[in-house]
Amino acid sequence: MLELVKLTSGYGSVAAVEDIDLTVPAGTCVCLIGANGAGKTTTLLTICGLVRAFSGAVRLDGRDVTRSPADRIVRAGVSLVPEGRRVVASMSVEDNLKVGAYVRGSDPSVADDMERIYARFPRLRERRFQYAGSLSGGEQQMLAMGRALMARPKVLLLDEPSMGLAPHVVNDIFATIADINAQGTTVLLVEQNARKALAVADYGYVMEHGRVVFGDTAQALAKDPRVIAAYLGMR
Ligand code: ATP
Repeated sequence: MLELVKLTSGYGSVAAVEDIDLTVPAGTCVCLIGANGAGKTTTLLTICGLVRAFSGAVRLDGRDVTRSPADRIVRAGVSLVPEGRRVVASMSVEDNLKVGAYVRGSDPSVADDMERIYARFPRLRERRFQYAGSLSGGEQQMLAMGRALMARPKVLLLDEPSMGLAPHVVNDIFATIADINAQGTTVLLVEQNARKALAVADYGYVMEHGRVVFGDTAQALAKDPRVIAAYLGMR
């Protein structure tokens, strides 16, 4: 289980998120929705140890990891699929996947996991020796997800996985997220596409101006007038 307790963090001396209380029970999919600049990315980066926590705590299975270095947090079981994919364009697809497994050293099961990733994403297998920069946006998103899975995370953090992708590709990405979660990986999903996020999540939190303003089951949020008005539009 991933737990944020009164977490405040930001850039320089300026807080970007304040007093965040959030729980992601093991095995669930939790989404974080909110407008641009609400603090969703900052929350994920703080969990990963990439943005400094000013106060409060990040706990993983009860263990405090708040001030752990980023590589130790990956080793503890948290992987990030960053906003904008951030694959290494000048490296092959396969080498990008290997980067994801670097924390596992010479673990002999890395090769089996690579096979599993290729079975999940056959397009990546077809393109394994191509430069990652030559992939389409959807393929790069699959690669970014595959790279994160290569670390064998307990908790997968996804930052705006649907951004900039065509609708049919977005559907594939969400189906993949649902499947990864169904196979036992805990998921914390940040999305602008609240409708899709709430369809795949068990629980959701709404962020505004650096704070979590409310949270509920995804089903209840999808019917909540405040969420409909602000994030789901008229239907
Ligand atoms: P988006 O959907 O646009 O990514 P978000 O909800 O993820 O929005 P954040 O990116 O976490 O929001 O931004 C929260 C606040 O922190 C904003 O006010 C933003 O301007 C500020 N911020 C983000 N990154 C930095 C940075 N590197 N340095 C200083 N301030 C930053």
